Amino acid sequence: MDFSLNEKQKMIRKITREFAEEYIAPVAEESDQNSELNPIVFEKMKEMNYFGSCIPEEYGGGGLHNDTISFAIITEEIGRVDASWGITTSVHCGVCAYPLYRFGTEDQKQKFLIDVAKGNKIGAFCLTEANAGSDAGGVQLTAEKEGDEYILNGSKIFATNGGIAETLLVVAKTGEKGSRKELTIFIVDTNTPGYSVGVKEDKLGVRASNTSELVFDNVRVPEENILGQKGTGFKLGLQILDYGRITIAAQCLGLAQACLEASIKYANEREQFGQKIARFQGIQWKIADMTTAVESARLLTYKAAWMRDNGMDYGLAASMAKLVASEAAMKGAHQAVQIHGGYGLMKAYPVERYFRDAKMGEYLAISAI
Ligand SMILES: Cc1cc2nc3c(=O)[nH]c(=O)nc-3n(C[C@H](O)[C@H](O)[C@H](O)COP(=O)(O)OP(=O)(O)OC[C@H]3O[C@@H](n4cnc5c(N)ncnc54)[C@H](O)[C@@H]3O)c2cc1C
Repeated sequence: MDFSLNEKQKMIRKITREFAEEYIAPVAEESDQNSELNPIVFEKMKEMNYFGSCIPEEYGGGGLHNDTISFAIITEEIGRVDASWGITTSVHCGVCAYPLYRFGTEDQKQKFLIDVAKGNKIGAFCLTEANAGSDAGGVQLTAEKEGDEYILNGSKIFATNGGIAETLLVVAKTGEKGSRKELTIFIVDTNTPGYSVGVKEDKLGVRASNTSELVFDNVRVPEENILGQKGTGFKLGLQILDYGRITIAAQCLGLAQACLEASIKYANEREQFGQKIARFQGIQWKIADMTTAVESARLLTYKAAWMRDNGMDYGLAASMAKLVASEAAMKGAHQAVQIHGGYGLMKAYPVERYFRDAKMGEYLAISAI
């Protein structure tokens, strides 16, 4: 069994790390303070094709559709410097662009995927509602058929990229199957009458990422915008969340790595009792635990990606990776703030933001369909 990265994957890590440190890291604090992503970074991300890295080149992507480890490395390196860009790209690529490629018709790919893959249009995946969180089967947004259109009514909440997206995947109820709801996924162009963006959430962490309520008031969607078949929303939703969990695991892994690096750096600079605090066993134990958690998260994330690329059922592996990586980020951020002492709570040190950002990973994609 070979755990080493190949030369291409090593190069992708090097290039993405340099990109993230040059363009994203310098504006991360300011973006967090302003609760807004930096428009210059958007343009740079487009130039690097990072909005479509997991999509084939023929649809305007970066061609990593069968190299999920490389795609995970890109998401990890972006998440390492700014979790807000981590969640923005992992949702855009993982649960919007990828499903359009995986389940879309050729017409849908030509009409929607190319613009999403090139970053000309930002994507969002809209499942959660006020009464449908972990219990995603509780979806109440309805889609009524009228001629060759469906009329969507209801609202979605907590949609990442919601306020900036132009292409949405919307999970709606299209009927009842016994005691269960029949769910269907619709591709919605936000430039449709009756659609509007509601509240933009003011969040604890990942503040620069846009998380919004979306309102559908008699929004007419052509029948040909159904992703997959009518009534397959459950089945497709499961598969979309499986792939999404790899991307969330990757961004949390990046954040956990950032917490570890910041802690090692600070512990080797800060002196108390006449010596570097890194010399104290209590600090060394924390860093040993963080290192082990990061390595476990990396191995599980890459394994899930490798299983996907080798045609295996990777759902369970992706869930384990997401659980371990999101907990590694949260525990790592907690330890990082602790190692920084009072400075850990000060905005002058990035661990303060890492601590707030880390909580997001423990909420995302926990929906059970
Ligand atoms: C920053 C952020 C971005 C998000 N982005 C998106 C997005 O892009 N698209 C989208 O559709 N959604 C998104 N979400 C929503 C996210 O998927 C939901 O928050 C998540 O599914 C949990 O639902 P809830 O918040 O309603 O919590 P609830 O379902 O109300 O859960 C509350 C608590 O109860 C626990 N719980 C619930 N059911 C059980 C059970 N059966 N057994 C044990 N414990 C249980 C939960 O674990 C949780 O701790 C986002 C959320 C956040 C915070």
